[in-house]
Amino acid sequence: MTTSNAPPIVPASGMGLYVHVPFCKTKCPYCDFNAYQGIEDLIGPFLPALMAEIKCWGETLAHTAVKSVFFGGGTPSYLPPGYIEQFLSSIQTSFQVDSGAEITIEANPGDLDATACASILGQGVNRLSIGVQSLDNDLLNLLGRRHQASEAITAFQTARQAGFDNVNLDLMYGLPNQSMDQWRQTLDSLIDLAPEHISLYALTIEEGTPMHRWAEEGKIPEPDPDLAADMYQYARESLAEAGYHHYEISNWSLPDRACDHNLIYWQNGPYLGVGPGAHSRLGDYRFWTVLSPRDYLNKAATWADSGAKPVAELIEPVLQGIPTLGGWEHISQETACSETMFLGLRLLDGLDLKAASAQTGIDLAKKFQTPIKDCIQLGLLELDGTCLKLTESAYLVANQAFTRFLE
Ligand code: SF4
Repeated sequence: MTTSNAPPIVPASGMGLYVHVPFCKTKCPYCDFNAYQGIEDLIGPFLPALMAEIKCWGETLAHTAVKSVFFGGGTPSYLPPGYIEQFLSSIQTSFQVDSGAEITIEANPGDLDATACASILGQGVNRLSIGVQSLDNDLLNLLGRRHQASEAITAFQTARQAGFDNVNLDLMYGLPNQSMDQWRQTLDSLIDLAPEHISLYALTIEEGTPMHRWAEEGKIPEPDPDLAADMYQYARESLAEAGYHHYEISNWSLPDRACDHNLIYWQNGPYLGVGPGAHSRLGDYRFWTVLSPRDYLNKAATWADSGAKPVAELIEPVLQGIPTLGGWEHISQETACSETMFLGLRLLDGLDLKAASAQTGIDLAKKFQTPIKDCIQLGLLELDGTCLKLTESAYLVANQAFTRFLE
C-alpha cells in the first residue's frame, strides 16, 4: 500500500492536547481507567519519556496550534513539583499554544495545599478540576478515596486563595447506600462553594473492578437507577436555580465557563493524546499509545531517537511503526458522520445540522432522515429550524437516540 495520497493529519485550525498521567497514590475500587498505584519507580523516567513524545509530535505536526491542554489521568497532581512546568515548557516549545488557551489539571483534594496550588498556578495552569466525588465521609470511604469531605472543601478554598478563578468540581451520584438526603446535602454544599464548573457522573460498576466483585458477592447493593434519576433531576433543578447552564449531559457551568477542551471532543474536533493509553483523533485517523506505562517507557527511547516523522509517513501503514503507538484505525466518512451526530447531541443546546454538514461534507439532515424522524416521534429529539437537540426527558436515556446514528 502506498501513502502518497493519504490525507494529512495536521489540523487546519488548532487542536486539543491531552496528557495522560497514569499514576495514583491508591487505586479506587470502582476505577477502570488506565491508572496504577505502586509504580512510583516509573515517575522519574516518565518525565523525559513524555517530553520526548511531545517533542516528536511537535516536529511531526509542524508545530501546529494548540487550543487547550488537559492533564488527566490518573492523578496529575500526584506528580512531584516542577513536572507540570517542564511538560508545559516542552509543549510551548513544540507547539504554538494559543495565548488564551485553557490549561487544566486534574487534582485530588489531598494534594492541594497552599504551596501546591501556588506552584501549579505559577507553572501556567489556569483551570483546576478537583475530584471531590462526595461530601459524605462514609461514601468517600466506600469509594476508596484518600480524602475526607472537609479536605475537599479546604482544597477548593485554598485553590481560590491561591488565585484559581476557573475551577471544576467532580461529583458522583447513584452510589451504593447513598440516600437522597445525602445527595441533597452534598450538592447544596457544593453549590455554596460557587465553582465555575460542575461535572456529575452516575456510578457505573465496571467489570473487573473490586467494586464489581463486591456487588456480585452481595457486599454492596447494586446502584438503583430510579434513585439515580431522581438525584439527577434534583441536580438539574438546583443547579439551574443557582445560575448554572446545563450544557452537556453531565456538565454544568457558569456563563462562558464551559470546558474548552471537552468541547473539542463533543464537536468531534482534532486532538492529540500523549502518555500511556492516550487516544488521538487527527485527520481521518484515530490512534492510541500502548496502555502499559512500563511498555510506554521501554519504547520512549526509540521516540527520542526517531525525531520527526514526515506527515505522509504517519499515515497507513507506516502509522503502525511509530514506536509508542499501540494501535490505529482509519475513520471512514460514515463513522465521522455518526460520531459528529452522537457526540454533538450530547451538547444540550443542540447540534446545528447545517454547520455539522459543512464540517463533515455530507448533508446530515438528509443522510440521517430516518433516525431523526424516528427519534422525534419517540420524543427523544426535537428539531428547531436546523438545530437538533435532545428533549429534556431523553437526557438520561440519550443512548437510545445515539445508537440510531450508528450504522
Ligand atoms: S484517583 Fe481517579 S484515576 Fe486514580 S484510581 Fe481513583 S478514580 Fe481512578
